[in-house]
Amino acid sequence: MRQSSLVVVANRLPIDDSVAPDGACEWRRSPGGLVSALHPLLRHTPATWVGWAGGTGPAPTLPDVDGVRMRTVPLTPDDLRDHYEGFANATLWPLYHDAVEQPQHHRRWWEAYQRVNRRFAETAAEVAEPGAVVWVQDYHLHLVPGLLRALRPDLRIGFFLHVPFPPPELFMQLPRRAELLRGMLGADLVGFQRAQAAHNFAQLVAKVLHLPATDRRIGIDDRVVRIGAFPVSIDTAEMAALAARPDVAARAARLRQDLGRPEHVILSVDRMDYTKGIEQRLKAYSELLVSGHVKVRDTVLVQVAVPSRERVGQYQILRERVEREVGRINGEFGRVGEPAIHYLTQPFDRAELAALYRVADVMAVTPLRDGMNLVAKEYVAARVDDTGALLLSEFAGSAAELPQAYLVNPHDLEGLKEGLLAALHAAPADVRERMRAMRAHLREHDIRAWARSYLSALDQTGALVDRLTTPGDAPVAVPTQPDRSAVRADRRAGG
Ligand code: UDP
Repeated sequence: MRQSSLVVVANRLPIDDSVAPDGACEWRRSPGGLVSALHPLLRHTPATWVGWAGGTGPAPTLPDVDGVRMRTVPLTPDDLRDHYEGFANATLWPLYHDAVEQPQHHRRWWEAYQRVNRRFAETAAEVAEPGAVVWVQDYHLHLVPGLLRALRPDLRIGFFLHVPFPPPELFMQLPRRAELLRGMLGADLVGFQRAQAAHNFAQLVAKVLHLPATDRRIGIDDRVVRIGAFPVSIDTAEMAALAARPDVAARAARLRQDLGRPEHVILSVDRMDYTKGIEQRLKAYSELLVSGHVKVRDTVLVQVAVPSRERVGQYQILRERVEREVGRINGEFGRVGEPAIHYLTQPFDRAELAALYRVADVMAVTPLRDGMNLVAKEYVAARVDDTGALLLSEFAGSAAELPQAYLVNPHDLEGLKEGLLAALHAAPADVRERMRAMRAHLREHDIRAWARSYLSALDQTGALVDRLTTPGDAPVAVPTQPDRSAVRADRRAGG
């Protein structure tokens, strides 16, 4: 067994299976943020990525991808149902997003969660060389740091949570709250998107486990676990370069024409998820159409809503409700050849998304709660001419970094309508000034800066980070095929 000095552990491997023209199945690197972030490092370090390859058959043996070893963890149909769809996405996901849907609790799900986490931990323990750095990602794998430390106390272990971490009042509902906290504390460094999340975690650790905890350090046994905020980002340069490509600009012009050359194009791009505030946004839009503040002739709304987690009941119900409402609005306000809402559920590839971002005068990103929201950052990166207004929920992690956006509370319908109108009718000079400031922020705080800051906090010897900043590392060319199973977002960190 070959071992690595750097091991990334995430629910999904950073690859997609795709069918080659000759009908054979081939594996390609999926265009995920984490893999771009780590690419320069992975190229210079013997690295292994541990994750699930999708499907419920035996784990395929995969070739290296860009020099990184892929080590698959198999899931059975029961694991998929009870760990992934159950505990991860029907217990933790809603609870971590302000319980905007009711979290469900089943003892069988917890058993599966433990079982699958153990499998990931054992695999990571096998592939890590003595003293290796192991970086565990996200809410599917809370128990891995603790299990791994028990197996391999020599390792340097990091844990990063891509989703929000809720306030104690909510987290306390979890029947297995102590075990989850203890699992995370197996890490040397626990990273969150926002400082508030680190604060919530420290409070919970003090309350539930009675350990000494501040917003920066927690004492457990004879160790110190450091905690902090490391807001994740995008490959800003890559998105800007894509958006500036002549074919993408031409595609954007074509899209505007296809939309009937309206005065204003409003765009939303979401995974179909109840956290994204799609229904609230549609209601606000519908009321603006009723009051006449928005007219179908001069304004169009393009809503991309890519289905995800389709076997989870709450997602099926949401999709039906959204589609009924879009149908009602189009029936009531559309005209022949002029729908009020262009509603699309197909996943778009990077180039098509970049073209959509370029065509959108207003980008409406109004989740009820979101760990970060990368779409908001991608829109900013794509606005290479400094135009475009970003309407952004205060409850998205990205709002902490992009205060120049038109910020709204998506629970406040009147506020949402006012925000949308303000963004639609903003003075061009104001829009430009805001966009410039946001673009400057993202140029500096890109995905590589994120990986560098996290890993330098984790590996205080500095050896890893030196490799991350090796001169001559060109931005990674990202493949542009669409994610056929629709949920690239779910794969970003291995969701
Ligand atoms: N995305 C995509 N194609 C689509 C819709 C979305 O590639 O048709 C990508 C989008 O570019 C972004 C990610 O999916 O990188 C969504 O991430 P975000 O943080 O906004 O939301 P999440 O889905 O992770 O909750």
